[in-house]
Order: sequence, then C-alpha cells, then structure tokens
Amino acid sequence: MSRQYETVIGLEVHVELASKTKIFCGCSTEFGGAPNTHTCPVCTGMPGSLPVLNKQVVEYALAVGLATNCEINQYCKFDRKNYFYPDNPQNYQISQLYLPICHDGFVEIETGAGKKKVGIHEIHMEEDAGKLIHDEWEDCTLVDYNRSGVPLIEIVSEPDMRSAEEVNAYLDKLRLIIQYLGASDCKLQEGSMRADVNLSVREVGAPEFGTRTEMKNLNSFKAISRAIEGERARQIELIEEGKSVIQETRRWDDNKEYSYAMRSKEDAQDYRYFPDPDLVPVVISDEWLDEIRAKQPELRTEKLARYEKDFGIPKYDAEIITSSKKMADMFEATTAICKNPKKVSNWLMVETLRLLGERGQSPEDITFSPENLAKLVDLAESGTINSSVAKEVFEQIFEKDIDPDAYVEEKGLKSVSDEGALKATIEEIIKANPQSVEDYHNGKQKAIGFLVGQTMKATQGKANPGMVNKILKELL
Ligand code: ADP
Ligand code: MG
Ligand code: ZN
Repeated sequence: MSRQYETVIGLEVHVELASKTKIFCGCSTEFGGAPNTHTCPVCTGMPGSLPVLNKQVVEYALAVGLATNCEINQYCKFDRKNYFYPDNPQNYQISQLYLPICHDGFVEIETGAGKKKVGIHEIHMEEDAGKLIHDEWEDCTLVDYNRSGVPLIEIVSEPDMRSAEEVNAYLDKLRLIIQYLGASDCKLQEGSMRADVNLSVREVGAPEFGTRTEMKNLNSFKAISRAIEGERARQIELIEEGKSVIQETRRWDDNKEYSYAMRSKEDAQDYRYFPDPDLVPVVISDEWLDEIRAKQPELRTEKLARYEKDFGIPKYDAEIITSSKKMADMFEATTAICKNPKKVSNWLMVETLRLLGERGQSPEDITFSPENLAKLVDLAESGTINSSVAKEVFEQIFEKDIDPDAYVEEKGLKSVSDEGALKATIEEIIKANPQSVEDYHNGKQKAIGFLVGQTMKATQGKANPGMVNKILKELL
C-alpha cells in the first residue's frame, strides 16, 4: 500500500502599509514616479542621516494586531538585519527580531471542511528595499530607491495550514481584515501584499514535521495553489526515492510550474541582528492602545450579520457585497439615499460584477458614485424607465458616472406609459398582423409575444412591457 502524506504550510506575508510617507523619513510612498524622485538621505542610506519612526505605521500595525487577536508588546524595538545587496543602501534592513510589535494571535478561516483557527506567530514592522531593474539592452543594472523605506508589516503564521484551499482562505481573510482597516489595499498582483510559502510534507500520523522549503515570488492566488501542488509533489518524490528534502529557499516559476533552488536557508545568526542604536524603543501606552481599539472599524464578520439583520438581504448577497470594502461602502452609501437595499444589492452583484469581470477589474476599481446609482434605482423602481433601458443607463454610470436623470431626459428614454398613446400604437400593430391575431385566438400563446415585440420595436424599446401586455389582452 502506498504511503499517505500530509502537507504542512506556514506563511510569511508582507503587506505594504497605506501611510502617505515612508517608515523612517518624510518621503512619499506613492507608487510610480520617476526613479529616485521619492528619496532623501535617510532612505538612500547616506552616512550620518538618522531615521525617525512614522507614528501612523505603528498605529496600522497595532490595528492589524488587534484585529487578528494578537498580544501586543507594549515595549518593542527595532533591530538591524545585516546583509549586502544593491537594493539595500544601508547594507542592513531595519526590522524587528527580539521584540516584534504583535505576537500570538489567530484568525479563523472557513473551508469546505469547516471552521478552523490559523495561529499567528508574530507581526513585525520593517522597511521595504529598493528595486533593481536589469537592463537587457545596455547590459547593466539600474536601481530605483523610491520603494526603499516604504513601510511593511510581516505577518508570520504558525505552520497550521494543510492545503492550498486553507492557504487561500487564510490570505483572503487577512486581505479583508487589512482592507477594512484601511491599513493597505492588499493587491497581490501589484505587490502590496506578498506571500512566501513554507512547506513540508510528512506521513499521515507522523509526530514530527518534515524539513521545509520556502518559496518566494508568488503573486497570485492561482500561482500559490500551483506552487503548493508542485512543491508537495517534488518533496514526496524525494522522500519516496529515499533522499531527503534540503532546507532552502526556492523560486517558483509559474510558467514552468516548477520551483528552483535559490539559496540555502539562512538562520538568524547569518544576519548578525542587533538592536538599532539610532531608534529609541517604542513604548505603547495603555491609553494609546485603547484609542486604537476604540477606533477599530466594523470588520467583515460584523458587517455580514448586520446586513442580513438590518437590511434584510440574503446571506448570499451579504457575502458577495462584503467580500470587498469598496462594494460594502458603495452598498451602504447608496442604500442610505434610495432606501432599497435589495435592488442596490442586485445592481452590485449582477451588473457591476459582470462589467468589472469583462474588463478584468476588481471591485476596488469601481469609480461611479452612490448618488447616481441611487437615482437609477429610483428611476427603475418608479417605472420611469424599463429594465432594458435601465441596464443601458447603468453601463453609462459604470463607465462615466453620468447623472441618470439628465441622461434619460436628454436621450428621451422614459418609458411610454401613456395608456392612450400606447393603445393607438397597439391598434395599428393588431391591424398589421392579422395572422398573429388569428394564431392567438386559436390558442397559440406564443403569438402574443410576437405582438409585444412589435410594440416594443415601434416605441424604440420604451414601452412599459407590463402595460403593453395588459392592453394587448384587452384589445384581443
Ligand atoms: P525562521 O525563523 O527560520 O524563518 P520560523 O520558525 O520563523 O523560521 O518559520 C518561518 C515560517 O515557516 C513560519 O510561517 C512557520 O509557520 C513556517 N514553518 C516552520 N516550520 C515549518 C515546517 N516544518 N513546515 C512548514 N512550515 C513551517
Ligand atoms: Mg522567518
Ligand atoms: Zn526618504
């Protein structure tokens, strides 16, 4: 009988924080910008320059720690992690080793197998490195320090996950918590959230963990799932051949679907960590912590319950809408104006997601205003426009945030519900289609559909379909 293996996974997740300025200087954190324009002596590692800690960074780190059930080290410190690399101008990274700001937390995830807690070993603050650009044409490497000193938190999980499904649920949970806190936009593709996957396998029932590898360079949920499958298979094969897994850092190549050895695993000793002598320890008072606790916004779990209870929308709707902070904000703001939660929810879940999908965008990319969506809901609900016109108007709102009242007026899109006028049109249509009328009288229900279609055509789609049906039946 072949042996059964269990996958054991722990993640190190880096998140770029949303502060306007860098962690130890006043330079902008904005993405893009001409190379080396968001820099100063501090973030380019000039001798004699001194770092000053950004208070906002500490507040974001605390907010994330509290939301993930962590203990807080109210006395915490920064340490130097020494290594040489050209994207790191100081030759050390300021990070936290001995006293990270948060530790021993957890988040609850839900998968097909039910609910489960994933432990968080610690969360620490650190600075990002610059970016190297390898120029193929000039055969040289250029460096851009705009990203150098951008604040990060690193969230280190316990080795509590057992499958790609659990890893995705965990990452999604973290993403939602952090987005709701406003601490980061957490875009995997753009690198504001990055995950390193530590993975080992062991025989089911074995008391000890196996030797793990660490995989870097994973920038989508799909890549993470493929990397987990690929690395699990590679390790099992080694073990079955009687060889052993080497503890090392590997780079996942998502095109080749294989990981490559990058370097042997470094230990803390390799970095000669020591407390940074330029920064004083951070003391977090009880009052400060209470203030942050009091400011914590409503998170997804609470929102979910409230949406079902206060707005009376189905759980299914609530789950989709709260799966993005932007959608949830849009839902609440629009509902506050038009007081029609279910219709707002429908526009967001159906048409909005369809149009976003077509454009390969995510809900965070929504640009229309709640005012205009609310006006559209009112127009459709009052019967001023019919449902196919409403869809057309919504596309305009989605793309250009137009004012639907003005648009409908200008394009003459109001539905024709003037009974007299409609009756006259329908009489004409009946006269022109004697065959259909006969079919109808002979019991062919489908014939009426044809006549409705003709009426819609004659009114350029603006007739109120309910009214057309009613008048037709009367006249026939
Ligand atoms: P180091 O300090 O050497 O980087 P850590 O103990 O900090 O090691 O662990 C780093 C990450 O690796 C954590 O997310 C942890 O959960 C994970 N991890 C540790 N041991 C294993 C293992 N045997 N299998 C899978 N993941 C592991
Ligand atoms: Mg580590
Ligand atoms: Zn700077």
